[in-house]
Amino acid sequence: MSRPVILRVPPLSPQLHAAVGERYDAVDPADLPTRAGDVVGIVSSNAGTVDAALIASLPRLGVIANHGVGYDNIDVTAALARGVAVSNTPDVLDDAVAETALALLLAVRRRVVVADRFVRAGRWPEGAFPLTDQVAGSRVGILGLGRIGRAVATRLEAFGCAVSYHNRREVPDAPYPYAASPVALAAGVDSLVVVVPGGAGTEALVDRAVLDALGPDGVLINIARGSVVDEPALVAALQEGRLGGAGLDVFADEPQVPAGLVALDTAVLLPHIASGTHPTRAAMRQLTLDNLASWLADGTLLTPVPEMG
Ligand code: NDP
Repeated sequence: MSRPVILRVPPLSPQLHAAVGERYDAVDPADLPTRAGDVVGIVSSNAGTVDAALIASLPRLGVIANHGVGYDNIDVTAALARGVAVSNTPDVLDDAVAETALALLLAVRRRVVVADRFVRAGRWPEGAFPLTDQVAGSRVGILGLGRIGRAVATRLEAFGCAVSYHNRREVPDAPYPYAASPVALAAGVDSLVVVVPGGAGTEALVDRAVLDALGPDGVLINIARGSVVDEPALVAALQEGRLGGAGLDVFADEPQVPAGLVALDTAVLLPHIASGTHPTRAAMRQLTLDNLASWLADGTLLTPVPEMG
């Protein structure tokens, strides 16, 4: 029996690329002129676009298995309109992403990266490093108290932080105070951790008003998507001292990072590595492959995206 034809939308990790090739009749974008009519499934990652045009060009497409919990790279509306099933990889990355949020918050507040540069530059003999802020006992707002947001919150509790949050809907069993808007949340905390999904619904949710509500001693941590923050407004707020600091894993136009951010000692910048640990990426890869195998076996998904109902 011929093997199912699966399109690998780049970029995929070498391991996932190879795994799809071992299990299926794998095709890549360069093969589409002759193979588009055969493709029944797509494997993508959140850095590879699956738009309406691609979906429309694959008449037998039935499933999109995305490697990543965020799937703003996929036109889900177009997929569902065609009856194409979509899966993502929730839960398995919560710990890795949450600890990245804490790493950024600690790095910005304790000036870890700047202090490291101070030592390497041989400046310690000239005098002590300036005192810093601390995370312990501070007030931290979570914008997006979902799976990862909760994992961030429990870690902050261990630091003795006062946690509050904002979602569109109050979470009934959440043990933290609810703020009615992003601005209200920012106004009542020292640091704000952004962990909402990307996409049109959250575009520039963190705007100048939110940044100004955080204020000159405030710190913004973004481990969600670059699109959620008005990046020019963020750069201006940091440059003008209206915001105290920022820890960023994601950017508006990755892998481009604004020169204004690179020049600032108050910003700690990571190359979108929040889920990038060996065990977490292995679990994400397995869940992606399991979703694809499940759909091919009986038309069901282990972790369908919420829009599938
Ligand atoms: P969840 O769906 O569990 O949580 C998302 C939360 O955001 C929900 O509590 C939701 O509540 C809230 N939310 C959604 N839209 C809005 C809005 N417009 N305003 C306020 N709150 C909103 O997702 P996860 O925790 O699993 O993941 C969150 C996101 O983190 C992913 O979508 C992804 O983009 C990002 N991520 C980034 C990674 C990285 O490498 N940097 C790695 C993994 C994830 P409600 O619906 O009530 O508003």
